Amino acid sequence: MNDAIEHRISHVPHYIAGRCVLPGERDTVEVHDPATGEVVARVSLGTEEDVAQAVAAAQAALPQWAETAPLKRARILFRFKDLVEQNMKTLAQTITREHGKTLPDAMGEVTRGLEVIEFACGIPHLLKGQYTDQVGGGIDNWSMRQPLGVVAGITPFNFPVMVPMWMYPLAIACGNTFVLKPSERDPSASIIAAELLQQAGLPDGVFNVVQGGKGAVDALLRHPDVKAVSFVGSTPVATHVYGEGTRQGKRVQALGGAKNHLVVMPDADLEQVTDALVGAAYGSAGERCMAISVAVVVGDVADALVERLAARASELKVGDGAAPGIEMGPVISAAHRARIEGYIESGVREGAVLRVDGRGLRVPGRERGYFIGASLFDHVRPHMAIYREEIFGPVLCVVRVASLGEALELVNTHEYGNGAVCFTQDGHTAREFSRRVEAGMVGINVPIPVPMAWHAFGGWKRSLFGDMHAYGEEGVRFYTRYKSVMQRWPDTVARGAEFVMPTAK
Ligand code: NAD
Repeated sequence: MNDAIEHRISHVPHYIAGRCVLPGERDTVEVHDPATGEVVARVSLGTEEDVAQAVAAAQAALPQWAETAPLKRARILFRFKDLVEQNMKTLAQTITREHGKTLPDAMGEVTRGLEVIEFACGIPHLLKGQYTDQVGGGIDNWSMRQPLGVVAGITPFNFPVMVPMWMYPLAIACGNTFVLKPSERDPSASIIAAELLQQAGLPDGVFNVVQGGKGAVDALLRHPDVKAVSFVGSTPVATHVYGEGTRQGKRVQALGGAKNHLVVMPDADLEQVTDALVGAAYGSAGERCMAISVAVVVGDVADALVERLAARASELKVGDGAAPGIEMGPVISAAHRARIEGYIESGVREGAVLRVDGRGLRVPGRERGYFIGASLFDHVRPHMAIYREEIFGPVLCVVRVASLGEALELVNTHEYGNGAVCFTQDGHTAREFSRRVEAGMVGINVPIPVPMAWHAFGGWKRSLFGDMHAYGEEGVRFYTRYKSVMQRWPDTVARGAEFVMPTAK
């Protein structure tokens, strides 16, 4: 990554038609390093006009890009994959600086994004249609998938590299052109991605970035040339984007919030469960949509498990994510930390037992950072706000139940249904859990079951609005329109008009 790019991202621009566009110092917001509380960049808040320019650039690039052979589109993605690998550390450092997660976790994020690029490199195969020879009367029938046009991606702060990569590699591989609206809280990685795509040979205008918040999102939703919108973020915003986008006639997939349960059966290995829960609840400070925020403990192992969890949660190494050996970094902002503290207060008020209190944590040398330690609640009940609502912080709730049936009832009646996990040594229990649980992504002895790039990511219930999950073949379907072609090359003998519904002869 060269110095010019490093310099430019101190005021994070839009990226339109192959150029960085800086609309001036007005209408910018600060980007903070959550570990120090310092301002590390400013980002422009895109306006309706900025969105119009980006969509116009994408529209202008569309005809030629849609006509480009899928194999040639794939070759550009192969080069992009190489460049992402070469610049992995820069991308990860950028994530850590603006998000706060640890550097190894940020490297993991880039790797999971890279896997979608690798999948998208197979686009010639993925776009192959189906063909039936001789359906009758000299007619053949085949199908093809064609691009939608200009499509938009709106992404959250918690995966500034990976979540956009769930979207744009496949969208552009399918022949669409793309406008990304990243989170205004950690926007710099989007510009690095744009520069790398250009270096890979992507024609100008195929990938554009408009920075900003609600104003830019609403302008994208209103724009008649935006044919589809992929959104990932909180459920209130997902419902807004889905409702408004579909009302405007667009295809929309809107992935929302989560409250993921991990069910611990009495036969589970408690050491394994403790490791799994500590990593999945407190990794990335709980700011993952696949974080485990509820442990549902079946039978009489709860006391032993809670003791182990309490010991581990109190010992977590919390600090600047850029430093070696740190297990948990800060949360995204002071306001978000205050919100998490508010939930901890409400849990105490509602009668849950606070076994480990992460509030008031001080990290020496980083006193202005947005740190909060790991918290652990026991004896949480389903009516409590800490159980019902997404906290999105390092707070784990333990709920005690008597049976697998009761555990499933809890998971299945929760409004969210992103991930659900069961730890057990019994195959039948595992099978029953997988089949009966109402969630889009299931783990059996796997704490964070994020599907691989050739499967697909998405939740059920109020964790996803729309019909198709992200990436995998679902992603190819989302970013293309299906077309069926019936073809006959008639012989020269006239047959006369046919008035009966055609059937195979
Ligand atoms: P968010 O909903 O606040 O923001 C997401 C995007 O929407 C951002 O680009 C933001 O600028 C924009 N936005 C914010 N408010 C808006 C409004 N009122 N109108 C229009 N656009 C608006 O989410 P966040 O805080 O950035 O991310 C955390 C949330 O994302 C959590 O709820 C988490 O569970 C969820 N998430 C879900 C998944 C998933 O796959 N289901 C993945 C990652 C994150």
